[in-house]
Amino acid sequence: MSGTIAHPLVRAEQERLRTAAADRSGWPGAVPPAGVAAPTSVEEVVSLMRWAHRTGTAVIARGAGTGLAGGASGIDGALVLDLSRMKRILEIDVEEQLARVEPGVITADLDAAASAHGLRYAPDPGSVGISTIGGNIATNAGGLRGAKYGVTRDHVLALDVVLADGTLVHVGRDTIKGVAGYDLVALVTGSEGTLGVVVGATLRLLPRPVRTATISATFVDIGAAAAAVSAITRSGARPAVLEIIDHATLAAIDALEGTVLSAQGGALLVAQTDGFGAEEEARVVVAAISSLAAAVEWSMDEADADRLLFARRRALPALEALGRPLIEDIAVPRGRLATAVQAIERIASEEQVRIFVFGHAGDGNLHPIIVTDTAAPDAPVPPAAQRAADRIFALALELGGTITAEHGVGRAKRLWAERELGAEVVALQRRIRAAFDPVGILNPGSTT
Ligand SMILES: Cc1cc2nc3c(=O)[nH]c(=O)nc-3n(C[C@H](O)[C@H](O)[C@H](O)COP(=O)(O)OP(=O)(O)OC[C@H]3O[C@@H](n4cnc5c(N)ncnc54)[C@H](O)[C@@H]3O)c2cc1C
Repeated sequence: MSGTIAHPLVRAEQERLRTAAADRSGWPGAVPPAGVAAPTSVEEVVSLMRWAHRTGTAVIARGAGTGLAGGASGIDGALVLDLSRMKRILEIDVEEQLARVEPGVITADLDAAASAHGLRYAPDPGSVGISTIGGNIATNAGGLRGAKYGVTRDHVLALDVVLADGTLVHVGRDTIKGVAGYDLVALVTGSEGTLGVVVGATLRLLPRPVRTATISATFVDIGAAAAAVSAITRSGARPAVLEIIDHATLAAIDALEGTVLSAQGGALLVAQTDGFGAEEEARVVVAAISSLAAAVEWSMDEADADRLLFARRRALPALEALGRPLIEDIAVPRGRLATAVQAIERIASEEQVRIFVFGHAGDGNLHPIIVTDTAAPDAPVPPAAQRAADRIFALALELGGTITAEHGVGRAKRLWAERELGAEVVALQRRIRAAFDPVGILNPGSTT
């Protein structure tokens, strides 16, 4: 049903349509939409949604397009609502420790603004410098600090949402507690643009930690590193950051950066503790893992923290330098991390594909990255890589985990999400979706 869209706010220049066609997932079905509107106010979003509802036009909300599930990818005939121009931080309320923002604010910009008041916006996806708050809310994004601070949903107090028919609703409240009515904030958070367009948010801010300790430990193999994760959990310490990196990824970082990480051990853990007791908590972490580690280093110094976190920060760029990365996102119970990584190594060898694993170990969240040689970003995923991905999803479910811990279902993981959720839950979700969007114009073909 391709064609042009006749609305004064909609543009259809080829370049604009091409940019709005895909997110960062490499999902192969993405096509340029019919038009793109970049509203600058809630009123403009309302007007566009009323028009789309009247004409039955599919609408795909879009933040920065950094999504990894094909959720913001264009479909034929659709209108893409690019919310990146609605990027004002409306208020930082220091007394109440909250922020009111428009959806297009870049996540790191909010954190920087909060920082000027001694506060922090805690969720920090790896894309913190490029993704938007609206996209983070729509995907319920996680991040490095998730081990202690949770995911985006834990920091959203209220939302302004434009529904499919153009009705503007305010859900939630600006108080820390409140239980009147169903928790629609939690429902919309993570709904991937299928229940409404987020046009405003009240977000919780936290005091910036007074102290941070960073710990880096190498292990003979991933099994020992995973055992250390369990030891940290048992110790009573609660690091803000607890990241794991496998040997293949360490070797890739060495190749890009000239480091010698892969010679020092078979796996790396990086942890951070923060707050008034950061140092004491770091000592507890070090004591818990020292009998399992080949080497442990820790520091309270900020410059050292950058050095100790360096490997984690360079993991994805190192893999991008090797080829085209297919970024997967499973979670398993933390006690099964080693089983998961060892099974992924077997899958890599049996399918003859390169798979690298790093992730947020504190959450049991692993990112197995299948790197293919295909240079063209829109070339089909090679069959062996797709088989490996499918086997990784099956493995996650077998181990009692999930096929997506933080990136979302989008268009890329629909079938696997249905398998994880089961027919009854999928049917219930579809009834909820129909209650919000009876005509079915919001992000059709995405999620379940
Ligand atoms: C290098 C890199 C690192 C990453 N690291 C992480 C990570 O650590 N953790 C993590 O969770 N993700 C990570 N991601 C994935 C991605 O950045 C997140 O999913 C992010 O939340 C998407 O934000 P966005 O603004 O780019 O949204 P988009 O990609 O534009 O959209 C994502 C989804 O949200 C919907 N949407 C966007 N804005 C709105 C809105 N205002 N209202 C309603 N629906 C909307 C879209 O329709 C789509 O379904 C990473 C991606 C990259 C490229």
